[in-house]
Amino acid sequence: MNAAEMGRDPGQGSPVLFIVIPCYNEQEVLPITAPMFLEKLKSLIERNKISDLSRILFVNDGSGDQTWNLIRAFARQEEHFIGISQSRNRGHQNAVLAGLMEAKDKCDITISVDCDGQDDLNAMDAMVEEYLAGSEVVYGVRSKRDTDTFFKRFTAESFYKLLNAMGAEVVYNHADYRLISARVLRELAGFEEVNLFLRGLVPLVGFSSSTVYYERHERLAGKSHYPLAKMLALAFDGITSLSVKPIRIITLFGFFVAFLSFVGILWALIAAILGKTVAGWTSMTCIICFVSGIQLIALGVIGEYVGKTYLETKRRPRYIISERTWEEPENRRDG
Ligand code: UDP
Ligand code: MG
Repeated sequence: MNAAEMGRDPGQGSPVLFIVIPCYNEQEVLPITAPMFLEKLKSLIERNKISDLSRILFVNDGSGDQTWNLIRAFARQEEHFIGISQSRNRGHQNAVLAGLMEAKDKCDITISVDCDGQDDLNAMDAMVEEYLAGSEVVYGVRSKRDTDTFFKRFTAESFYKLLNAMGAEVVYNHADYRLISARVLRELAGFEEVNLFLRGLVPLVGFSSSTVYYERHERLAGKSHYPLAKMLALAFDGITSLSVKPIRIITLFGFFVAFLSFVGILWALIAAILGKTVAGWTSMTCIICFVSGIQLIALGVIGEYVGKTYLETKRRPRYIISERTWEEPENRRDG
């Protein structure tokens, strides 16, 4: 398939939509949700909101189970289903990017959504409407989190607050359910970072955007791949790949500690002059512990940025597609 065959015909008729769906070990939930995606796509096509050349693009993120076989079977049965497979598991963000980059020359708009049915598919109608009304990016925002446990809600909300406080601007309560036009995707392709945090990156591309609210449901089957540890890692990656605020905070803190040290030295000198020196073991130990602790934290954070720089300088490909459910012309490059 190439752009012409896929019928990209900007400015004429209804837009071609690609729904991009990352899947990692989702054999339990895919048979349930795939027909739901298809139904939504067909209803949009029937109402002439989108072109019949629209597709549902599954991205297999190196699953170890039957996920890829399922996707291939879907693609054989129904032309609206297509799929690509990553050569190994690269994580949610890279899987979404692989799908978006694959789609960008074949369609006018993409909607990325998780495959577990947690995000209300009906919000897609409103997203397409917003696009037709002139928005290039439409963020899906969770209106409430009733179905999440208190713990998940608390950690997720702290996640957004922490990111914003640390200078990584993200849309509150917006995960990776969003519409992006092909035009914005072509610009996004120019952001070549390997440490990927799409939620922070898409707002940086700019263009007119709007939001659509939806209710978040429970996962229809299977289990979450985002336990607390992974969420913390994502928050940390998000902050350190988008903002240098932590370094600034450390510098400020360094000044503060230096000031305290200065006061401490004065105090020590005065005490010595007055002849009131005692065996100052406690104060010595406290100061050494405190300062060395601070230094280690500071080194760690700086090391994080150095590490990121190291990874970026390698310019490794961000995704590698090993298989597609269709034939591609040769000499195509990915990455
Ligand atoms: N996912 C992925 N690669 C991974 C982990 C997750 O492609 O390494 C996909 C997964 O199949 C799902 C989406 O990312 O479609 C979100 O994952 P999940 O539902 O487990 O996270 P949660 O909604 O609980 O935060
Ligand atoms: Mg989920």
